[in-house]
Amino acid sequence: MDSESFKECGKTVVNYIADYMDNIRDRPVLSTVEPGYLYKLVPPQAPVKGEDWKTVLSDVEKIIMPGITHWNSPQFHAFFPTGNSYASIVGDMLCNGLGCIGFSWITSPACTELEVQVMNWFGKMLGLPKEFLNESEGPGGGVLQGSASEATFVCLLAAKDRTTKRVKSLNPNMDINEIKAKLVAYTSDQSNSSVEKAGLLGSMPMRLLKANDDGQMTGPILAKAIAEDMANGLIPCYVVATLGTTGTCAFDRLEELGPICNENNIWLHVDAAYAGAAFVLPEYRHLMAGVHYVDSFDVNLHKWLLVNFDCSAMWVKDATHMVDAFNVNRVYLKHDYQSTDPQLPDYRHWQIPLGRRFRALKMWFVLRLYGVEGLQAHIKKQVKLAKLFGKFVNDDSRFEVVTPVTMGLVCFRLKGDNEPTRDLYESLMRRGRVYMVTATVQSQLVIRFVVCSRLTEIRDVEFAWNEIREQADKITDTVTT
Ligand code: PLP
Repeated sequence: MDSESFKECGKTVVNYIADYMDNIRDRPVLSTVEPGYLYKLVPPQAPVKGEDWKTVLSDVEKIIMPGITHWNSPQFHAFFPTGNSYASIVGDMLCNGLGCIGFSWITSPACTELEVQVMNWFGKMLGLPKEFLNESEGPGGGVLQGSASEATFVCLLAAKDRTTKRVKSLNPNMDINEIKAKLVAYTSDQSNSSVEKAGLLGSMPMRLLKANDDGQMTGPILAKAIAEDMANGLIPCYVVATLGTTGTCAFDRLEELGPICNENNIWLHVDAAYAGAAFVLPEYRHLMAGVHYVDSFDVNLHKWLLVNFDCSAMWVKDATHMVDAFNVNRVYLKHDYQSTDPQLPDYRHWQIPLGRRFRALKMWFVLRLYGVEGLQAHIKKQVKLAKLFGKFVNDDSRFEVVTPVTMGLVCFRLKGDNEPTRDLYESLMRRGRVYMVTATVQSQLVIRFVVCSRLTEIRDVEFAWNEIREQADKITDTVTT
């Protein structure tokens, strides 16, 4: 493809994306293809001769679109939102166009410095303590990871290194491997699957502590587990607290967990992948009270802040633990501007891979084109829509809302045992007009309704509720007749 074809093809694709978004309500949110459908449509070998872009593009509608689940459809209410906006898409186009790999300052100063600066901006927008910002005097700073999962894992590895060195310095006769074998991590049974996975990948047992009836990990729950393990000669190393759990959007009690972790030299990481976005509004910040105790904090802009995947903002109070743990040097990586100044980080030491995308560009576009007020308005609107849905549910005496609606998630069910809710969910999925997923709360089956798409309007919430109500009519009629 030469530059003229690129311009023509690029314009066609941009128009295609804009039309796709404008007409997304016309497409069923759930794909109806059978497993393996695509293998019948795409040959088993790559073409020997290059094809024309128009031919490839015409295959998108025929081959790709039938197998797409439309995450940006206003009828998508599953999981949590996936960020999407034109501002972000154009930022990402530029990232691809420039194609730089900014693993150290010298490999693209703009890549590093823009990331530092947008992380300072965003940290201030959330009201994080200043120790987390690169612009502060201390060793703290922010970095963009690809995902909240990576952030949890990276911090586990840094915590492992920090604890191992500390214990070794106190017990010089202890073997490093013996210390590592005793390390243990904690999270609640409501934390995201990626937290348990971080423990598996990092060879550190991750204890899934039973949350309280409100889905929260509390101080007493954590303190009890730590005391048990210490009595057995284990070394508590890492705690992952969740602000906004995946199942029910519960908030672990940071104010209680923080002092326990600090007193016991345990690294406290906060996974605020979804709900952290709401801290752009000061009225939600009480939900992160105790944040000054934590060692690291992560929020996905690629969930609720209109930045396309992947863009996960992670801050640490002391980056030297990561830099020490992950610093592998080679002659070819050396440059004249290597520095320990958090204003000029070589971000390769803050992450797992060597290479890295210029993610800050799409974030910069979104922060500038929406502004703080635009992003606040987006969150406010989505919470309002969730509350409206919650009201529809509460006004129908057959249903109940199971957990408080604090953000964009409503957990609801048909009253009584789980069977009618299961039947309702299955019938909704068979019809495929709205997409939601289920969760269990205190062994009760609930359906999770999340306001996901930035395009969601009142009419979409009404559409979903009418669909749910109509299917419930059939089920409750069967139950009562
Ligand atoms: N943490 C929480 C609370 C989540 O809800 C999710 C995903 O929904 C994740 C982590 C994983 O996020 P990511 O896909 O960015 O790794």
